[in-house]
Amino acid sequence: MSEFRLFLKPGREKSIRQKHPWIFSGAVDKTTGDPDPGETVEVYDSRGKWLARAGYSPHSQIAARIWTWDPGQAVDADFFRQLILQASELRKPLKEYTDGYRLVHAENDGLPGVIVDRYGAFLVVQFLSAAADRWKSTLTMLLSRLEGVEGVYERSDADVREKEHLPAFAGLLHGDEPPERITIREGGWHFLVDIREGHKTGFYLDQRDNRRILHDLVSTFIHNGNVLNVFSYTGAFAVAAYSAGAIHVLNVDSSQAALEAIRDQFSVNGLTDAPQAFQAGNAFEVLRAFRDQKRQFDVVILDPPKFASSQKDLYKAARAYKDINWLATRITRPGGLLLTFSCSGLVGEDLFQKIVFSATLDAGRDAQILNRLGQPMDHPIRLTFPEGQYLKGLACRIL
Ligand code: SAH
Repeated sequence: MSEFRLFLKPGREKSIRQKHPWIFSGAVDKTTGDPDPGETVEVYDSRGKWLARAGYSPHSQIAARIWTWDPGQAVDADFFRQLILQASELRKPLKEYTDGYRLVHAENDGLPGVIVDRYGAFLVVQFLSAAADRWKSTLTMLLSRLEGVEGVYERSDADVREKEHLPAFAGLLHGDEPPERITIREGGWHFLVDIREGHKTGFYLDQRDNRRILHDLVSTFIHNGNVLNVFSYTGAFAVAAYSAGAIHVLNVDSSQAALEAIRDQFSVNGLTDAPQAFQAGNAFEVLRAFRDQKRQFDVVILDPPKFASSQKDLYKAARAYKDINWLATRITRPGGLLLTFSCSGLVGEDLFQKIVFSATLDAGRDAQILNRLGQPMDHPIRLTFPEGQYLKGLACRIL
């Protein structure tokens, strides 16, 4: 039992009873005992009934994140050990296929604010809330004891730390310094991951299932295909397309460093003869130029960064999604494939489908959805926490 208490305003306990883990600052009546950031607080409704035990974030709009709804459950090292073991159990079946996977998906694994990605013998962690940060040394110790772990590296440089008044931090927390690039195995492919400088924790693990789906669609429907991989990052989709028999993949990204990494990505996959075509630039401009030149591709992949980070960006984001999908539809040949994604949590599946619908309609085309795309099982979505879903996509055949 913590000495600190957080009382909710009247009528604000419903979502907590429904096991949603966030307590918004607007729902808080008062806290007693002056808890420090990250401290565990006991949560009560306005009538003084105990509801949950949570980690306190005084500087954030999310004032507390719930650790447990069980009055008998202490928040201590043993509690975290159990959750990490459960998370690890869930991923066990993946290990045969890959040694790169998300080990802990924050709220969805019962660990608000904690992200852990595994790349071979190295773990990359992000502590994204005050409470997660406060338990950093315990969590690091527990993670370092997992089988085969040689090093734990922190990449808490995500923007969300600012909202918690936490400084950005990146560096080694435990064990050996990771090599400059780690090679992970995924099915028959290999991917190079730069955990220090790469995006997020180094690699887009969340696209794993979609790489496989792209591979299967291309090898089934597209012969000697000409592929445009927009927002390519280090070319993981390009590897999948080439191994499915594509003859040319043009990779477009604004990051020169990401494009430069593609060469080695191809070589670790034995694609030494594959044409290496890269174009650095703003995807919107590149796509517009291709449309003006009336270029046509058999397959177009669109995997943009998050356009909407808050509700106020939503309208602008929807316009931007529509814009690139309209352009992409125009340059996909009839009978060709368009794989289009959104990783904005605020853009739901329905809205995304409507955006793609209106983009294809305006482009004077129709399309068939062949697959609905999402995030893989190591990025689970807790039913009580719909915010856990962020990645969605459509694999369409353009008509
Ligand atoms: N498809 C990639 C992940 C893409 S993440 C994969 O499977 O690994 C989004 C990418 O978009 C990043 O690599 C980022 O550098 C790039 N990017 C962001 N804004 C861009 C823009 N306006 N034009 C082109 N690329 C952009």
